[in-house]
Amino acid sequence: MSWADPLTPTVLIVEDDPAIGHHLQVGLQSSGYPTTWCRTGSAGLLHAQKAHPDVVLLDLGLPDLDGVDLARALRGDSPDLLLIILTARSAEIDVIVGLDAGADDYLVKPFSLTVLLARLRAHLRRRPRPVEDEQSVIELGALSIDLAARRCLVDGAEIALRPKEFDLLAALASRRGAAVSRETLMDEVWDENWYGSTKTLDVTMAGLRRRLTTIQQQTATPGSAVPPAIVTLRGYGYRLENPGRTTYERPRG
Ligand code: CA
Repeated sequence: MSWADPLTPTVLIVEDDPAIGHHLQVGLQSSGYPTTWCRTGSAGLLHAQKAHPDVVLLDLGLPDLDGVDLARALRGDSPDLLLIILTARSAEIDVIVGLDAGADDYLVKPFSLTVLLARLRAHLRRRPRPVEDEQSVIELGALSIDLAARRCLVDGAEIALRPKEFDLLAALASRRGAAVSRETLMDEVWDENWYGSTKTLDVTMAGLRRRLTTIQQQTATPGSAVPPAIVTLRGYGYRLENPGRTTYERPRG
């Protein structure tokens, strides 16, 4: 994600608390999200109508407008908006009212920037992107992953993966052989409980490896593709390596 990328989601913060607003703006900007901060509800609404941000972080307790009313107005103007409510009220009823007003998610103050960024990534990943068609198939040597169809093929042979195994392989393959930390994988594949145990990552990784090994055994003929290997990087994470093909020519005729 970079400033030059026109597909980078833009963020609007509507927050009257100067410390929180400043902290969020600096944090989001430095994470690559072009960010605007409005200190009142009416300024926020005006900006949203003019600039059409992709994401709005909305404080419910604003000096001029009722946050829930504002959430409803923003949602009414823009059905595709990712709307996250920031609230100091943790009472369940406030959360329900906020979600009913059209919010996609909520964070109860105080929350950490890390948690906010993880939620943002999780939500944005699920959203259809305009370039989905171009980017929906990842080719890495013999491995082909169709993200839209959720199909995985090695040398044309389909591997049946469990949902999380597919997500895990897609997360590794989309880095095209670069090392990926356990934290990143937890964020991307298990976003809803990234704070929980990472044991589930080990279990899913073992299952994925087992399936890749199985396909290798099934397709182990001269000239057939060797499926990608998942290398463990101790104390860090994993890397997907694509060894290519066996050195033999495929028999002809
Ligand atoms: Ca406030």
